[in-house]
Amino acid sequence: MSQRRVAALIGSPVEHSLSPAIHQAAFDAAGIDWTYAAFDVAPGRAAEAIAAMRVLGIRGLSVTMPHKHDVAEAVDRLDPAAEALRSVNTVSWDGDDLVGSSTDGAGFVGALVEDGHDVRRSSVVIIGAGGAARSVIDALGSSGASSIRVVNRTVDRAQSACELAAVAEVGTVADIADADLVVNATSLGMGIEPGSASSADLPCDPTLLHAGQVVVDLVYHPLQTAWLEQARQVGARTVDGLGMLVHQAALQQQAWLGHLPDVRVMRVAAEAALARRDDAGGAPRPDVVGR
Ligand code: NAP
Repeated sequence: MSQRRVAALIGSPVEHSLSPAIHQAAFDAAGIDWTYAAFDVAPGRAAEAIAAMRVLGIRGLSVTMPHKHDVAEAVDRLDPAAEALRSVNTVSWDGDDLVGSSTDGAGFVGALVEDGHDVRRSSVVIIGAGGAARSVIDALGSSGASSIRVVNRTVDRAQSACELAAVAEVGTVADIADADLVVNATSLGMGIEPGSASSADLPCDPTLLHAGQVVVDLVYHPLQTAWLEQARQVGARTVDGLGMLVHQAALQQQAWLGHLPDVRVMRVAAEAALARRDDAGGAPRPDVVGR
């Protein structure tokens, strides 16, 4: 009888994470005898969790806040994205070595490609300069975007994020109207239903958006944010945040298993888990996404 394999999430908190539902659904749909567990690991104990992964033979690890940086220090090697970001969301085995990778940025690009959008030669405005924005900037820089303007409340963070891509520079809200692709990578809109959103919950004035643009919100709770709704009303094409979440998870399974799972199965599982969270009145967590 084959031995059931274990993959796991480490983070804190993890109780609202969609990752267990997304990953288990893909394992089950493919008939793969793996189980996915979520472990709440206290801040500062990531290195011990990596040591436990080695001892217990855990086959794959997803990593979320607050451990992404510490795990980058604890594994044997990093992939280029994780090296650039000094941040790991995925740990996999290569022989006896543990390899840390970062699949968020590639997941973002994968979600756009699935939706029929080619990022090459696109002019992009990213609103935000935190961890999610940095992954997206790194991936768009590697994927051939022609220009990336980073607009953030804290300008120092925007400057630092721009170092990730040669075509990136600090921008202003005035750049939004000229962009092909506009991305909300802030947490604004998180947990706010469109009907009760005020202008303070929007990453930018929606009148800056227009038809011909692709507008992406990395926030996925609610799935249709007020900002996306208003972008649609002015004729822009919109992409919700669940696409990135699902694609980064699919790339994690590719790192663990050597092949991509069915992203549609993952998407259905993510939507169902979100709906269950809504029914239970569960709080949205900006810090448990995508893992
Ligand atoms: P983070 O590192 O904490 O960064 C938060 C960003 O939001 C910063 O740029 C911050 O600006 C900005 N911000 C927060 N409150 C603001 C406000 N009131 N006004 C203006 N800017 C504000 O968080 P993160 O990990 O990058 O996550 C950002 C969002 O992306 C979250 O909603 C998260 O759920 C989502 N996300 C989604 C996925 C996915 O797969 N769809 C993956 C990762 C993250 P300052 O620098 O000025 O503080």
